[in-house]
Amino acid sequence: MFKILKSIKNIFIHIRSSLKFIFLIIIATVIIIGIISLVYRPMYSVTLDGEFIGYTTNKSKLQKRINEYLEGGDKNIAFIDVKSLPEYSLCLLKKENQTNDDEIFDKVKNLGTTYYEYYAIVEKSKEKYYVSTKKEAEEVINKLKEKKSTNIDDLAYTKVHSTELKEFKDTESIITALYEKPRVVIASGYSTYNGERIISNATPSAQVLGIGLIKPISGVITSRFGVRSSGNHKGLDIATSSGTTIAAAAGGTVIFSGWDSYGLGYCVKISHGNGVTTVYGHCSKLYVTSGQTVSAGEAIAAVGSTGNSTGPHLHLEIRVNGTPQNPQLYLYK
Ligand SMILES: [Zn+2]
Repeated sequence: MFKILKSIKNIFIHIRSSLKFIFLIIIATVIIIGIISLVYRPMYSVTLDGEFIGYTTNKSKLQKRINEYLEGGDKNIAFIDVKSLPEYSLCLLKKENQTNDDEIFDKVKNLGTTYYEYYAIVEKSKEKYYVSTKKEAEEVINKLKEKKSTNIDDLAYTKVHSTELKEFKDTESIITALYEKPRVVIASGYSTYNGERIISNATPSAQVLGIGLIKPISGVITSRFGVRSSGNHKGLDIATSSGTTIAAAAGGTVIFSGWDSYGLGYCVKISHGNGVTTVYGHCSKLYVTSGQTVSAGEAIAAVGSTGNSTGPHLHLEIRVNGTPQNPQLYLYK
């Protein structure tokens, strides 16, 4: 019985000395940690592609910043491509080591390639103007379609993915820059002048023009030059199918190519020198521009029925010093 009590006492002594020992270890650890934390602190060493780029204490904040950058804040940034992402390893470093989150961020950023996404307005497969959104690109094309811009078939928009960000233009100025006045008008019916009674022919004899003329088209004479019941007909009407190529009657300089508001519709005027000009009216298409030099027989326009006309025909005028002559004194005799 006494023996048992003695061994219990021994156990207590043993526990007490063990607790004392553990307590001493804890105290020592706290002191060591205290000393270490005076000199050292935990930090993340950051490497990119195996190369050390700096230290950070706030890994999650830095990585969040990098992630936000990679997602691309700008609506025109499609994505950002980086070869590798930074790797972090925890270490205990002397406090004098500086953290450099900004430098780490810049290094990651510099290695990244930004891919932008925007839209190009294309004319004849060539990128001409750039807009930020698809909506704007569609607006440009639709407005030009509405306005019946003649180059509409050559226009389109396309999505661009590029590392280069282009300068964007506003839709209004693009529309203005690209717009080409309509030239194609399709009509059906017959010449206004067809069948009208000719009262007199204004020019009795041919003047010497000093230049040779060729027939701009071949076709059926539907109205002759002369004074009529409804007024002067200053030219000769030659009917043929719409779209037939009109050739220049002689070489010269185009002095007008566009819309004639006096009834000739789309019209070309060529000056041949010697005071001689030829006029081609009611065209469906114009192939020349003002100021351009043309040679005899060159395609200048296509037969149409624009202006004061009810069927496809060429209204041909020959003027000498501004006065219309009877074309049949020279051509289509
Ligand atoms: Zn006519």
